[in-house]
Amino acid sequence: MSLETLVQQHPITSESGSTLSSAFDADSFDAVVMSTYGRFPLALERGAGCRVWDTQGREYLDFVAGIATCTLGHAHPAMVEAVTRQMQKLHHVSNLYYIPEQGELAKWIVEHSCGDRVFFCNSGAEANEAAIKLARKYAHTVLQIERPIILTTHSSFHGRTLATITATGQPKYQKNFDPLVPGFHYVPYNDIAAVEAAISELDEGDYRVAAILIEPLQGEGGVRPGDVDYFQKLRQICDETGVLLIFDEVQVGMGRSGKLWGYEYLGVEPDIFTSAKGLGGGVPIGAMISKKFCDVFQPGEHASTFGGNPLACGVALAVCQTLEQENILHNVQQRGEQLRTGLRVLASKYPNHIVDVRGWGLINGMELKADIELTAGDVVTAAINEGLLLVPAGPKVIRFVPPLIVSEKEVDTALQIVDRVMASLTTL
Ligand SMILES: *Cc1c(COP(=O)(O)O)cnc(C)c1O
Repeated sequence: MSLETLVQQHPITSESGSTLSSAFDADSFDAVVMSTYGRFPLALERGAGCRVWDTQGREYLDFVAGIATCTLGHAHPAMVEAVTRQMQKLHHVSNLYYIPEQGELAKWIVEHSCGDRVFFCNSGAEANEAAIKLARKYAHTVLQIERPIILTTHSSFHGRTLATITATGQPKYQKNFDPLVPGFHYVPYNDIAAVEAAISELDEGDYRVAAILIEPLQGEGGVRPGDVDYFQKLRQICDETGVLLIFDEVQVGMGRSGKLWGYEYLGVEPDIFTSAKGLGGGVPIGAMISKKFCDVFQPGEHASTFGGNPLACGVALAVCQTLEQENILHNVQQRGEQLRTGLRVLASKYPNHIVDVRGWGLINGMELKADIELTAGDVVTAAINEGLLLVPAGPKVIRFVPPLIVSEKEVDTALQIVDRVMASLTTL
């Protein structure tokens, strides 16, 4: 289906009944907004479920979901209701006072995870910053380590603040931002010998490994699932040495994997984990969750003005409850299977271009051959022209992270579009 046909089949009209066709002026946007993003040439202004519309009225099937964030898709009634209710009641007050919605959300998270205590902030990077600060304080005060080291992995992604780009094991995110934050050391992912070596080598003078910060499945770094064996050995090493095990669940958590938390896939519980992207369904919120024994912050030691405000917590609670009441995890598992099965059919149809299909639930990657010219960006651009939003995860992996409410028919449509896109790109 061409874009024109797509538009004809799904004309959208404004409230006055006229067809929307205002062209978006990207030049005026770029004149005033910092160019931190390479943007695709479309401006989105409306959404419903797994569909979004641009300013020209073109409809797209959204398999990006704000990068694994819009858990319940767009304009979900439960979110509309929660936002409206909170705005009418109370949307922001300081953490100098008790905030009932914050307590309720924390209770839900604690009752549905291995954690005992929650700290709220506004993003994934902030949640990881909080975890890094907590781990350092734990190291100083409990483990008696003078110079604590945090191990992270190659190809990881932990955010864009100074400490979290340092934690991120990808030089491209660190370039020109040095001096970086001291106290991090990198090991290859899914390689237990490297962790053992690092722990013994770094046990010198005042330096010692205090924590391991790791994603159960690397999202940004190419949709790479963790090995069960590796993670179980990590847990064992941490139990033996007292090193804290911290999971970054910012992308894979909140049901995206088909289980509520990615660690459930690995049969291993962390001491600390972080959540953000999917937690508020698109309303900004982050959380750092810890076990009781490593809950070391005292009043005044860490804070966030917006963190855990009534609006964000009221909406996130509605997202959590909807996820549970509508048994959305079941849908994630079914649709994930359907998507991977379909992508594997395409991998066998285009064996000279697609080398791998992998993922859990509704976080999946389709990897292109390394030695061909075709890039993930080429596929994503072509898919946009066919009415499907996708996002790369590195130069060769196309990421599929639709809202968790995606339907069987929508997954089929996405697969048909990817098939058409591959057919056109591979005959060039
Ligand atoms: C997106 C992401 C982050 C950063 O989250 P922000 O909300 O952009 O700060 C951290 N860790 C992982 C695994 C992510 O995918």
